[in-house]
Amino acid sequence: MTGPLVQARALRKVYASRRGIFGRVSHVRAVDDVSLEIAKGETLGLVGESGSGKSTTGRLVLGLEQADNGEVRFADAPMPSMGTQVWRTQRARVQMIYQDPLGALDKRLTILDQVREPLDIHDIGERSERDQRALELLRSVDLSAEHGRRYPGELSGGQRQRAVLARALATRPEFLVCDEPVSALDVSIQAQVVNLLCDLQDRLGLTMLFISHDLRVVRQVSHRVAVMYLGQIVETGSADDLFSAPLHPYTRALVSASPAPGRRSADRIVLQGDPPNPADRPSGCAFHPRCANALAACRVTQPTLSQPSATRSVACHLYADGQRSAA
Ligand code: SF4
Repeated sequence: MTGPLVQARALRKVYASRRGIFGRVSHVRAVDDVSLEIAKGETLGLVGESGSGKSTTGRLVLGLEQADNGEVRFADAPMPSMGTQVWRTQRARVQMIYQDPLGALDKRLTILDQVREPLDIHDIGERSERDQRALELLRSVDLSAEHGRRYPGELSGGQRQRAVLARALATRPEFLVCDEPVSALDVSIQAQVVNLLCDLQDRLGLTMLFISHDLRVVRQVSHRVAVMYLGQIVETGSADDLFSAPLHPYTRALVSASPAPGRRSADRIVLQGDPPNPADRPSGCAFHPRCANALAACRVTQPTLSQPSATRSVACHLYADGQRSAA
C-alpha cells in the first residue's frame, strides 16, 4: 500500500425529518461533500460544535452507516457494506470508541469476559490462550486481573474507558475512530486516558480519527486537524499550524475560546448566535450570519476549499486568491 490508510471522497449523508405526523418533511444535510485522508500511524482530529456532522462522518468512514454519496477506501480497497461477510472480517481491523463507556459495556458480564469477547467472535487463538491475551490487554491499559473480575458498574469512569480500549485493541486493529472518548470523564482522568491513547498509538502504530469538541484535547493527540461547520470541512492543517495561526474565521473563534498559556479572555472572539438549523442552511457561506468578516459575496456564493499553502486548506472567500486578505 502506497497511499493513505484511510481515504474518504465526497461523502454525503442526508436525513429526512418530519415535524409531527402531518408536518412537512425536511432534509438535513448532516455531512455534505466531505473528503479526508489519514496516513498510516497518523491521528486526524475532527473538531466543530455539536451538530456539525463530526460523529456522522466517523460512522460513515467506518462503514457503520451507508453514505448517500461518495466512497471510503481502507488500505487501498473499498470499505465493505455493513452486515456483509467481508465487513465482518474487516471489523477486526477497524474499531470505534464511544463517549459513554458504561453504554458500550454489558453490565451483566465481567470486564475480562468482555475484553475476551472479540477474540471469541473472530475465533482468534486457542480457547485456552484467550483469557491470557485478555489479561495482557488489561495490563496494556493499566488495569489488573482484579479489575477483570469486576462488572462495569464496579469500576470508575476512567477504568471503564480503559476496559473499552482494551476490548477495542483485542483484534489488533489498524484504525480507531474515537468519538468524544474522554468528554464524559473528569478533567483529571481525561489527561490520563489521553496520555494512554497517545502511548498506545506510539507503541502499536495505530491510525486514528479523533472526534472532539474539546480543542485542548485534540491539540494534544492530533498530528493534523480538520474543522467542520454545518456538515462541511472548512479548514485543515497540521495541529501546530492550525492552532498557532488559524485561518478560517470560525476556526479563529474556536481557537480563541480554547484555554492556552498566555491567552487572555479579552482576546476571545465571541460568535454571534447559535449554529443555524441544518434543515434551513443559509445561502452562500453557511457561516456568514455569524461571521464578522463577511463580504457581499459570502451571502450568495459558497466558498470551496483552496490551498493557501501545501499543507493547509480553507474554505473562505478571504483566501480564494491564495492570499490571506483579512485578520
Ligand atoms: Fe466569513 Fe465569508 Fe469566509 Fe464565510 S466565506 S467565513 S462569511 S469571510
